[in-house]
Amino acid sequence: MLASTNTLNIVPFISVENMMNLVLDIGVETFLKELAAYIEEDFARWEHFDKTPRVAAHSPDGVIELMPTSDGALYGFKYVNGHPKNTRSGRQTVTAFGVLSDVDTGYPLLLSEMTILTALRTAATSAVAAKHLVPSRHKTMTIIGNGAQSEFQALAFKAILGVDRLRLYDIDPAATARCARNLEGRGFEIVACHSGHESVEGADIITTVTADKQNATILTDNMVGSGVHINAVGGDCPGKTELHRDILLRSRIFVEYPEQTRIEGEIQQLPGDYPVEQLWQVIAGRAKGRADDREVTLFDSVGFATEDFSALRYVRDKLVGRNVHQPLDLLADPDEPRDLYGMLLRHGQKRTTA
Ligand code: NAD
Repeated sequence: MLASTNTLNIVPFISVENMMNLVLDIGVETFLKELAAYIEEDFARWEHFDKTPRVAAHSPDGVIELMPTSDGALYGFKYVNGHPKNTRSGRQTVTAFGVLSDVDTGYPLLLSEMTILTALRTAATSAVAAKHLVPSRHKTMTIIGNGAQSEFQALAFKAILGVDRLRLYDIDPAATARCARNLEGRGFEIVACHSGHESVEGADIITTVTADKQNATILTDNMVGSGVHINAVGGDCPGKTELHRDILLRSRIFVEYPEQTRIEGEIQQLPGDYPVEQLWQVIAGRAKGRADDREVTLFDSVGFATEDFSALRYVRDKLVGRNVHQPLDLLADPDEPRDLYGMLLRHGQKRTTA
């Protein structure tokens, strides 16, 4: 139960184990659908949020980022890294944790693991965008890059759009085999492919979710037929892209927050004033999504702070009535608020008399 949040200094902590318990209790597909609704709700009230491109500390092999935002009542931030080389030493490419706070007091309301939550929110956001951008026939999705994010993408597109045919490709066939195995019994028809070209045959949606810190060409122009929706997830850092520039020039491009995507997304390959469309405007009904079944649409996903805020907000609501958190002694709480040093002295006395 969430009773301990009433105690001023106790912060509920959602460990990795408890996040898994929460997701499994709710059910992955239900979780994705409900989370997508929170993400949509926050995109629809976009103008309420403080927005800034994330603060990134780059190194030769990766990046560490802080992603803050607030709607005036709640404040959230996520710490996240991106290190494609990590899988070679048994580590994740992406790990994360985050905090949701009360703006009125500045006190944290929640501290949560966000590695699993990021995979869920990234997939849910992709599916939310796709709702407005996929062609009317959208049964088959290609997924290029079959690592940590891939099953979540597949499940979000199934739960939210009914996509049930997958064509998988990864330069590492073991990754494709694992992804296919993990999705067994979930109602997908799955084809494991041997090349990127083979994987895009007959695809209505192409998801690219590879990890490589370079300007890669996962998709060339001739791989993208008319009417396809591209969900480009892996290019999310300066110097880290997945699509050939020619694809961008013939696509309608939708982004989260242009100021951040121009630095990090596929559109870093284009001039800084190249016209792009904003996802929130489509969700809020102020701009049109896909116009017909011939245009190529591109969601140039990089991940934006409001999506993590929505995810933390959703998790906080879901804690009520469930035993999936630990009370964390995170905040100093002296009996007299200004007597912080006195609290330290009294603790010292207690230790010597114990
Ligand atoms: P991961 O390392 O677990 O998996 C990446 C997979 O891509 C690996 O299996 C690898 O073999 C494969 N790959 C690499 N180069 C390839 C190529 N040329 N062709 C085909 N496959 C190739 O990484 P992950 O956690 O799944 O993340 C994937 C990407 O998504 C990363 O680049 C990460 O930064 C990005 N990401 C973006 C968002 C977002 O919001 N847009 C969120 C999370 C992660």
